[in-house]
Amino acid sequence: MKRYLQKLYKSSRSKSPAKSSKTMAENSIASGTQAQVLTKESGEAFVEALRRNSTLSVLEAKYVVFPTQYSDIPPIIAHASSLSPPLEIAVKCGGAHSSTWASSAGGLVIDLGKLNKVTVSSDKKTVTVQGGARWGDVYSACQEANIDVVGGPFWFVGVGGYLTGGGYSPFTPQYGMAIDNIMDATVVLANGNIVKTSPTEEPDLFWAIRGGGNQFGIVVEFTLKAIPYSGPYTMGAIGYAGSEIDNVIKVVQEWKTTYTPKEKLNITYNRPGPHFKPSITVLPWVSEDKDDRSKEVLAPFRALNPVVDTCKAVPDMLAVSHGADAMMKVAPPKLIIRGTLVTDLYPDMMLDVWQKWVAFTEENPDARATSILWELSGADRIAGVASVATAFHARDPHFWVAIQGRSISESSEAAMRSFVAKTTNEIRQFNTRKAGKDAGFFLNFAQGDETLEEVHGPNLPKLKKLKAKYDPKGLWRKGIYIEPDFS
Ligand SMILES: Cc1cc2nc3c(=O)[nH]c(=O)nc-3n(C[C@H](O)[C@H](O)[C@H](O)COP(=O)(O)OP(=O)(O)OC[C@H]3O[C@@H](n4cnc5c(N)ncnc54)[C@H](O)[C@@H]3O)c2cc1C
Repeated sequence: MKRYLQKLYKSSRSKSPAKSSKTMAENSIASGTQAQVLTKESGEAFVEALRRNSTLSVLEAKYVVFPTQYSDIPPIIAHASSLSPPLEIAVKCGGAHSSTWASSAGGLVIDLGKLNKVTVSSDKKTVTVQGGARWGDVYSACQEANIDVVGGPFWFVGVGGYLTGGGYSPFTPQYGMAIDNIMDATVVLANGNIVKTSPTEEPDLFWAIRGGGNQFGIVVEFTLKAIPYSGPYTMGAIGYAGSEIDNVIKVVQEWKTTYTPKEKLNITYNRPGPHFKPSITVLPWVSEDKDDRSKEVLAPFRALNPVVDTCKAVPDMLAVSHGADAMMKVAPPKLIIRGTLVTDLYPDMMLDVWQKWVAFTEENPDARATSILWELSGADRIAGVASVATAFHARDPHFWVAIQGRSISESSEAAMRSFVAKTTNEIRQFNTRKAGKDAGFFLNFAQGDETLEEVHGPNLPKLKKLKAKYDPKGLWRKGIYIEPDFS
């Protein structure tokens, strides 16, 4: 993307300053509001505004607007939809989703980045988070107040996309999905109304935004339940040569019989430099508030004689959320993540994926940063909520796996995309054979070509009805579009 963005920057600079056209654009698209508007004529700031976590998520919008207050948004969406043809509207929070859902080619991006205030209530029982904040903003406020919330593991992931998609958190085994800890929310609807939603106010909307994604409005504010601080947290990496794969898979099977809600482990297949040999890395997160749980949970992994063990306790979730910064800095920025749910961590499935991943990354050196991540985390609290209680239906106990395709060249991109899609399908087929059912996809790691049924399962009919109620004209089109049901 760097080259693409540089080219765009140069072409924006080579044009005359076009002050008047910028003013016209600002006046028309956001007239009467306090929003900042960027267009190609804005130069570097516009190029910066197009940036996303994955360079494959970048599209060149016509306008990027930054509302500074909730009331800025309705006139902007009204204006965009009154044009002929109407401007496509995309909404961006952290820009971490590896699709292009938060970007628009030639349309309007509403970037919520200036709506990122986080306020802890005076009794420290709730945390109010604006819809453009990222988890780093939230954890900074939590650090000061010595509390936690059920949120994402990386500072740069936005609360908006993460929460509307469900939100698997390190705290999920103790407190459930992140959406199970939302007390209320404020939403800008397609008709321009700004409404408060909770179990008692607009309860249908409250149901829909907890797992229905971006299809029902722009969530400009969430109130989250605060949970007690339970740090320090042990994290880091335990790495093995690929020859240990059978043993690691065996320990994973043992963990399934001994797990507690205080830990989440990631098992990743990756090729770390400088040798880029197939390796397995265990990435733990363990809450150490009262006991030394990490010693116990990591002992069987340590007994396998890892070649690397960098695990250590860090004080809080802000530190946890920065734990992968060094690795992210060198990771190739062309990224596609596709996740799928699995009923169990079947050893033969984990081994089959390993063998195929080794072969793919061997044959495609430009895509050898492609990795597989299995999430090991107790699902009892997820399953304690009925699948019809929120729009997020996947409440049977499950694990998840993310196939993270990365490539450094355009020539390897197609092969990388095809590996990601093929591997996801093979895992789903494997799961269906073993469990007798497909465990489905989830929005936070979807790509957009999944079917509505695969993503929303039995909640789809209700979601279609609510789409007709809250977005009858289909204003929110990006993402996995839900067709309204007016019957
Ligand atoms: C490194 C990495 C690790 C991750 N780990 C996890 C994890 O552990 N658990 C998990 O559940 N997910 C995880 N994710 C996935 C992540 O939750 C999703 O990609 C999420 O959509 C990112 O949110 P965002 O606000 O940054 O996204 P954006 O790219 O800004 O937006 C994604 C989608 O959400 C919509 N959206 C954003 N904000 C709002 C809002 N305020 N109101 C309405 N719609 C909105 C956008 O329009 C778009 O459709 C991870 C992603 C990455 C890159």
